Amino acid sequence: MKNIELNQRRSLATPRGVGVMCDFYADRAENATLWDVEGRAYTDFAAGIAVLNTGHRHPRIMQAIAAQLERFTHTCYQVVPYQSYVSLAERINGLVPIKGLNKTALFTTGAEAVENAIKIARAHTGRAGVIAFSGAFHGRTLLGMALTGKVVPYKVGFGPFPSDIYHAPFPSASHGVTTEQALYALDNLFKSDIDPQRVAAIIVEPVQGEGGFQPAPADFMRGLRAICDKHGIVMIADEVQTGFGRTGKLFAMSHYDVEVDLITMAKSLAGGMPLSAVCGRAAIMDAPLPGGLGGTYAGNPLAVAAAHAVIDTIAEEQLCERAEALGAQLRQHLDGLRKQCPALAEVRGLGSMIAAEFRDPATGAPSADHAKRVQSRALEAGLVLLTCGTHGNVIRFLYPLTVPQAQFDAALAVLTQALAE
Ligand code: PMP
Repeated sequence: MKNIELNQRRSLATPRGVGVMCDFYADRAENATLWDVEGRAYTDFAAGIAVLNTGHRHPRIMQAIAAQLERFTHTCYQVVPYQSYVSLAERINGLVPIKGLNKTALFTTGAEAVENAIKIARAHTGRAGVIAFSGAFHGRTLLGMALTGKVVPYKVGFGPFPSDIYHAPFPSASHGVTTEQALYALDNLFKSDIDPQRVAAIIVEPVQGEGGFQPAPADFMRGLRAICDKHGIVMIADEVQTGFGRTGKLFAMSHYDVEVDLITMAKSLAGGMPLSAVCGRAAIMDAPLPGGLGGTYAGNPLAVAAAHAVIDTIAEEQLCERAEALGAQLRQHLDGLRKQCPALAEVRGLGSMIAAEFRDPATGAPSADHAKRVQSRALEAGLVLLTCGTHGNVIRFLYPLTVPQAQFDAALAVLTQALAE
């Protein structure tokens, strides 16, 4: 089957709302390489949007899934439970940067984890309000969309949204918002829109993902923690994109000197299988009544088996250290290219969660065109890259942390070309 034929069939069979970036179709994949149906190889630095920190089809993860396939694929945990769910919860409880007694509930998608974290915070506080941030992304469900701080394309035509959701500015040097201004705006929100005593939760990405790989400043996180403590608000870190080694730590919250109350996770948790989780303080996690949390597929046994193998792999192959090393290399490489590419305005990020931001060198205005051009030149040369950012002017790097060094170096050479022209 040819790509061109599949594209024709796709446009007839699927709605345009399911936007598709590439015009070729996956046939098979191995670690950081993906082959299309016509046999062309691509280096995959998109990794299914941050899902494959352990690469495509890691042998250890494949083996774990295959072993589980031989036993059972589904019982619905809430009907007939299984040990692997409990032991995964135990492992996650011990791995998150939250001291004390933790509990974990498993779900299927990132949006579902976010929805459930909000449900848990509401049940615990008996309050309705939720505060999220401009530029945030929290999913495509109705509540996920409501929390997401970007209108086009996520919210257009889909309202009305659940009420009692508020957005405050996210501090970012590249957008000219300081921590003081962001915290002041939050204080203002409490004066003008919602009594802080009615706020159940503040949800924040430690590094905004879709919003442009913007790390939250340490003093901002400290400020949020103080506000949450003062008003009895549950602080939630959405680590769906930052989790499982991407930032050089298992969880990005380990870069900060404050703890949150709940953490949502998904994506690279299960190396390509659909699995998500909410983990946090036991007293908060236990607020919903029995039966209030769950889902038919929540904590699917195949995905749980994969997650166990992912956690083993990250530890054994020292992928957090690898994230630091590869990220430092990429950052240095990009910084070195700034002279020959004046539109490359900023290189930033944590560990291997690195962003290259493009601006018009004459006006300083965000340049989505530039980012798109670099992305399509790289793709022509066989390197799959993703963009992000509220203005779409950021290239983000999400390569498998298991990428062979030679393939990584070759991708850097492609980048040099893509940025030079
Ligand atoms: N939260 C964050 C921070 C995300 O990056 C994403 C996905 N990009 C989601 C939630 C939603 O995850 P999912 O697509 O699995 O529902």
